[in-house]
Amino acid sequence: MKKPLALISGVLLLTSFVQSASAEWFSKDWNGMGTKIRAEVWVDEGGSVAAEKAFTAVDQEFDRLEALMSVYIDSSEVSKVNRLAAKQAVVITPELFHLIEKAQRVSELSGGAFDITFASIGKYYNYREGLEPDARQIEENLPAINYRWIEMDPAALSIHFKDPRVTIDLGGIAKGYAVDKAIEKLAGLGIQYALVSAGGDSRLMGDKHGRPWIVGVKDPRLEDKNAVLIPLENTAISTSGDYERFFMHDGVRVHHIISPKTGKSAEESQSVTIIGPDATTTDALSTTVFILGAEKGLELIEKLPGIDAIIIDRNRKMHYSSELQPPTAE
Ligand code: ADP
Ligand code: MG
Repeated sequence: MKKPLALISGVLLLTSFVQSASAEWFSKDWNGMGTKIRAEVWVDEGGSVAAEKAFTAVDQEFDRLEALMSVYIDSSEVSKVNRLAAKQAVVITPELFHLIEKAQRVSELSGGAFDITFASIGKYYNYREGLEPDARQIEENLPAINYRWIEMDPAALSIHFKDPRVTIDLGGIAKGYAVDKAIEKLAGLGIQYALVSAGGDSRLMGDKHGRPWIVGVKDPRLEDKNAVLIPLENTAISTSGDYERFFMHDGVRVHHIISPKTGKSAEESQSVTIIGPDATTTDALSTTVFILGAEKGLELIEKLPGIDAIIIDRNRKMHYSSELQPPTAE
């Protein structure tokens, strides 16, 4: 069965799906992991006290994972790996080990479009301050972007970099992973209907209690406008866009999704949305397909069962994977 999509011209469709405010739905927005977190939960019993308990569990999970994986926190395990792994094999927690293994599988799958060693050059960008690497920094460090420099020893749970210039950053997969872990926490509290989102990564547990969730894919160039609306349940959805973190330099958009081939911002797409079973996968694949572009990206997605994509390319043309039924213009 194809998943139907609704055009934004069908705003009526949106309103007809949104149910009237019910005492049992609770939602909360806050900042965490360097982005906007949102949680919505359906609470059968216990009202706002139970909801607060759920939000605290989500918040704590995000904080725990940020402390483990942020490259901006010196004491994080990833920072430690970046300091030491070129000199010696570094033993890491099983959780981090398995997430890096997952990232490596996406690298293999995508012919290196997704590559956590992008940070070997990525670390020279500062989007808030409008800083980018100079030609020399790119030339010197481009050979360090190669996931094959990462050596993993599953028996020892250790990681080693085979090139001294390698730096890793899990920014393309960590938020999706955190969303999945937060949903696990909610399930552990007995919650059956929920949404957790962190920036562009969301996971929906169940439906919206009898109706589908309606998730909007933002128009990458028109603020507060959606390009498309998607009714969904029990799934994850991630969007990677060139409008999230960027600055303009000489008319060129310098943004946070880096092509491992050039060390510069990927140019093929404006936004890529991936729908799939879990947010770790959809997060990594949205970054991947953004870099690959519509043609190669769809080729990859069509090979992956249960994964769908909506691509808005550099010319604003929309592309849908074959399982999606594009909206019909009225
Ligand atoms: P966000 O939700 O932060 O907008 P995306 O899913 O769009 O994230 O991924 C962008 C992030 O992925 C960047 O901020 C960076 O940390 C990381 N990244 C950038 N380029 C690559 C790449 N080629 N491979 C893996 N990760 C990348
Ligand atoms: Mg992503």
